[in-house]
Amino acid sequence: MKIQTKISILFSLIVGSLLAIFSFIVYQIFAEFREQEYYDRLKSKAITTAQLLIKVDEIDRNLLKIIDKNTLTALIDEKVLVFDQNNKLFYSSLDDHVIHYGNDLLERVRREKYVETNSGDNEVVGLIYELNQQKYIILASAYDKFGRSKMENLRKTLFVGLVFGIVVTILLGIFFAGKALGPVNQFIVQISAISANNLTERLDERNGKDEIGLLATAFNKMMYRLEESFELQKSFVSHASHELRTPLAALKSEVEISLEEKLTLTQHKGILRNISKDINRLINLTNSLLQIVKPFKTTLSNAQKVRIDDVIFQAQDDLLLSRPEYKILVEYAQDPEDENNITVLGEENLLKTVFTNLIDNACKYSSPHQALVVIDFKNDMTMISIQDEGIGIPNEDVSSIFQPFYRSKNALSISGFGVGLSVCKKIVEMHRGKIHLTSTPNQGSTFTVIFPNANASSDTK
Ligand code: ADP
Repeated sequence: MKIQTKISILFSLIVGSLLAIFSFIVYQIFAEFREQEYYDRLKSKAITTAQLLIKVDEIDRNLLKIIDKNTLTALIDEKVLVFDQNNKLFYSSLDDHVIHYGNDLLERVRREKYVETNSGDNEVVGLIYELNQQKYIILASAYDKFGRSKMENLRKTLFVGLVFGIVVTILLGIFFAGKALGPVNQFIVQISAISANNLTERLDERNGKDEIGLLATAFNKMMYRLEESFELQKSFVSHASHELRTPLAALKSEVEISLEEKLTLTQHKGILRNISKDINRLINLTNSLLQIVKPFKTTLSNAQKVRIDDVIFQAQDDLLLSRPEYKILVEYAQDPEDENNITVLGEENLLKTVFTNLIDNACKYSSPHQALVVIDFKNDMTMISIQDEGIGIPNEDVSSIFQPFYRSKNALSISGFGVGLSVCKKIVEMHRGKIHLTSTPNQGSTFTVIFPNANASSDTK
């Protein structure tokens, strides 16, 4: 069932029930009021009759019957009966209406002194009238024609009001639910039209303050993230295939040459050496691809306390072993008297990958092949900056440089796949750290990595 229908039904049920309860209460109160008022009138009628009959000597019964019948206050279907001490009928008013009574009613009146009851549609009042130690019982009955017709009118009015109220509520419910949920229906149409080809589509955020606006804002943000990751995937696939195609095309042409041309052994050897170089490039590229698509865990299950300077020295040793021409200087900005100041919680191997990549880049992209690593700490954070005086990164590339396969134009002459920085960023974020870059083309670059210290990490855990 649609929410719009549900809301209108619920709304109508609530308002309908309230109206019904209200009508019922009004009707009941009015009914009780009418009945009580009529009993009071009967009571005073009965007392007047008794006083005239028993107290006033000049009035005989026949005269009283005439008075009873003709008084202005005469009630419809009125009948007054007076009984003496022995329950013998002492007086009966003229009209031929009857009161259905029995001895039990008379006994009840004697017992309770005042009784209000009904005989058919007529109200009956019974009371005791005492004079000269004689206890007379007076029964008075009449039909409240006007009161009952007012009741009938009220019943009809309330019923029509109730039906009208329910119909209006249903219509209003449908109208308001439709108005409130209208934008949602609009969203459904817009969202249904979104596919991989139009991920740029956005929902109308209206004022962005009510729930619908907030929903649209949240949806648009999600669409933005989806679009971004979709674009990233597209560029990843196109870069990866481009990177793979180049060595594969070189391999193909080298194999074709060696098959088609008559070559000397030395030429064959030269071609095989090139093939081996291309195969190595392919292996490196495949390794990089594996590294980047390898799904990192979001939490470090194997995290241990690691001294950042130890990791940096290890990275320095490894790099100098394979690249003896590199010059790597490591400095402390301040003396880490307490090793906790530069100890982070993490996985040593992953952290080493970060610094190997960053130091390698600093040396690779600067002609003196030199990198300066500065270790610093502040407010439970360890900060490491890797500086070089190399080719730098153009401003327009700074925001994209951490994307897989992204390479600056000024770096294309230097070998690389554009994968290392995106891996570094992933690892740093896994360690709840941050990586920043400042760079000036032809002057150099500084990559700054900030990690929360092990103590701070465990505090916030
Ligand atoms: P690779 O170095 O293999 O190309 P990276 O992901 O490590 O891959 O770097 C991506 C790009 O960032 C590089 O191609 C280069 O354009 C730029 N870059 C990274 N580090 C530096 C640096 N220290 N100086 C200048 N450019 C850099």
